[in-house]
Amino acid sequence: MADCFVANVRLDDGFAGGFLIDKGRIAALVTAGAPAPHAKQTIDGHGLLAIPALVDGHMHLDKTLAGGPWLAHQAEPQRMSRIETDKKIWPMLNRSVEQRATALLDWCIGHGTAHVRTHVDVDLEGGLSKLEGVLAAKASRAGEVTVEIVAFPQSGIMRCPGVADLLDRAVQSGADLVGGLDPLEIDRDVKGHLDTVFEIADHRAKGVDIHLHEPGEMGLHSLDQICERTTALGLGGKVTVSHGFCLGSAPPDKQKAMADRMAKAGVGLVTHGGAVWAVPPLELLHEHGVLVFAGNDDVRDTWNPIGNADMLERATMICWRADYRRDTQLRFAFELCSGHGARALGQPVPAIAVGADASFALVEAEHIPAAVAGHPRRELVLHRGRVVGRDGKRVPAAA
Ligand SMILES: [Zn+2]
Repeated sequence: MADCFVANVRLDDGFAGGFLIDKGRIAALVTAGAPAPHAKQTIDGHGLLAIPALVDGHMHLDKTLAGGPWLAHQAEPQRMSRIETDKKIWPMLNRSVEQRATALLDWCIGHGTAHVRTHVDVDLEGGLSKLEGVLAAKASRAGEVTVEIVAFPQSGIMRCPGVADLLDRAVQSGADLVGGLDPLEIDRDVKGHLDTVFEIADHRAKGVDIHLHEPGEMGLHSLDQICERTTALGLGGKVTVSHGFCLGSAPPDKQKAMADRMAKAGVGLVTHGGAVWAVPPLELLHEHGVLVFAGNDDVRDTWNPIGNADMLERATMICWRADYRRDTQLRFAFELCSGHGARALGQPVPAIAVGADASFALVEAEHIPAAVAGHPRRELVLHRGRVVGRDGKRVPAAA
């Protein structure tokens, strides 16, 4: 007998009926009116829309203040002020990295996110302590959400001798990718910074994810150098640029040329929608073959107090920022937060189909575009066949 039957649900394509779930996967789609199959448990979906699991391609689990008291934002607008402010605030927090990261993961789970890529600060002050905390949080939520970790040199590499060795140790201690950050703006050494990052990735057979806020020609040059190293080392498909704001303000001919260069090299791009900077040309990049996807970035932390870790709300925000209005564009925004993210990160592509992981959420919406427009609460969340969220909140395993 199958494990579970989720009855009375709808799909974006007009299907109405139920999903038979066994061993964490969807075993059958049963059309409304057909005899209900036998299962150990039946869940009434109340006619809600089932949406595929969400993927958050860019978080900072170690920085969050989730689950604790509100802390008024203190840093100045400059990136370096935020970096330095972090170092003053964190020693005064009375909750550990593991506690805070776990609280934010719970927000992700409650919103139907099945997979998270998080950056974790690796610096001279903290060493690998934040990595250890996030690894503990990841382990405590195994079976409810999967997590991959980027060892992130938030304070720079070349300007902080010793960080390169820490990055190398981080990827031998549980980090999955090597991170980087604005090679010229932070480190004033594009070659040194990128050579270090790519050398570790190549030596340890890891991927790369580089925060690139640099504007204009400075950012385009760094992006070009990232593509060059990706091609030279055969790392295509394993390299991501986070943000890539320089692409948003570039003229159309340069946008197209760089899109082709990134697609050919196998360099993807993750966006949170662009903040005050121009949004990268997401549709153009996708049409040129670049793996484009989305993430929440900072959520309730010392860099940004805004956010709740909801990737469906992130899709709404991307539509606002990119001026998406057509159904095709709203669907594209959803894919940035689900299927495209999974493809870029090498994860199973979320789908509600026979054989796929039974990972989905139920929402009150007519179809996917309406769900993106209003980002309704997740009434129920299943992860690999198990109920992990209800009414927008994580359901503890014992409940
Ligand atoms: Zn970030």
